[in-house]
Amino acid sequence: MLALVAMPAFQPAEARPKDRPRVFLNPGHGGYDSNDRPTPFYCYGVGDTVPYYESESNWYKGNALMSILRSKGYEVATSRVENTTLDDLDLFEIMSLAANSGADLFFAIHSNATGIEKKMNFPLALYRGFSGGPAVEGNDEISQYMMDALGSNGATEWTRKPMIAGDWTFYDWGYKVGLGVLRFNKLPGMLCEGSFHDYIGERCRLKNADYCWLEAWNQSLAIDRYFLKDKKPLQLGCVAGLLRGNEESPYQEAGYQIFGDDCKRGKNGYEMELYDSDKKLVATYTTDNYDNGFYLFKNLKPGVYYLNYAGQYHEITVEAGKVAYLSFQDFVSTNPGGMMKKKKPTKPE
Ligand SMILES: [Zn+2]
Repeated sequence: MLALVAMPAFQPAEARPKDRPRVFLNPGHGGYDSNDRPTPFYCYGVGDTVPYYESESNWYKGNALMSILRSKGYEVATSRVENTTLDDLDLFEIMSLAANSGADLFFAIHSNATGIEKKMNFPLALYRGFSGGPAVEGNDEISQYMMDALGSNGATEWTRKPMIAGDWTFYDWGYKVGLGVLRFNKLPGMLCEGSFHDYIGERCRLKNADYCWLEAWNQSLAIDRYFLKDKKPLQLGCVAGLLRGNEESPYQEAGYQIFGDDCKRGKNGYEMELYDSDKKLVATYTTDNYDNGFYLFKNLKPGVYYLNYAGQYHEITVEAGKVAYLSFQDFVSTNPGGMMKKKKPTKPE
């Protein structure tokens, strides 16, 4: 049976500042310590064990979001711009900084973990209050916009649609306890678990600073919507996607939980080319060695472009304030000529 979920009716946002809204960012954790959610893994592309710290991908996202928002005319304050142990402020310090910054919105940046290897990857928004009953007006609204924006990422593999919850409902920690970082917060805001870093496919992607930049770009679109700036988007767009070869993912063989197109290995060190409508080379992007095959072209003027992949041009249209996704997967074994199949963006359920 279909369960109908009523769309929340948000309050009008007229009262919010439109010229230079102020946003306070809190990239979660800080430094390379045991409490910074280290999840080292053997990366086949690198041929060695590589460190993964959630503090690092949060830091990439936070700095990217700060510069994207500033370029859009926001005032931005942040709890940290480096990734050291000293930047790992305690919760009360973070709250004091946020309150003193005069911010209109509080935004905590994280990724999620189940604690065990699971086939699980989706964005999760947590706000202070009960589910459906936010403690501060606007909490549920920014959460909804954030999940719409992150769920639209077509350069990943999602297992389900995004989830939104009030932290008093989500955590069974006592009446109105919830997340420490939101506890003293009087500002509208939320904590965003952008994806699951203990899912190996996602962890490989989160090692890439540009993948984190793309999440920040999508986060900025949600913040634009919250402050009614989405009607006049920045006249720039992006192109992103995943390149995968015919080879089975080595992580699958190694016993990791992996699903969807992540079962095929991402292409390492592949040079993707972007051409303009006159077939003039605009930029190249070389994929990293973390087996993700992720590529990104940032800050493009709207218009028609061509991606040159495996010697063939593929037309793609860039629109202002949007990301155009195009992923490619090779099926060499089914076609000796090296047939290439265009893959549609992965949509959440
Ligand atoms: Zn975290």
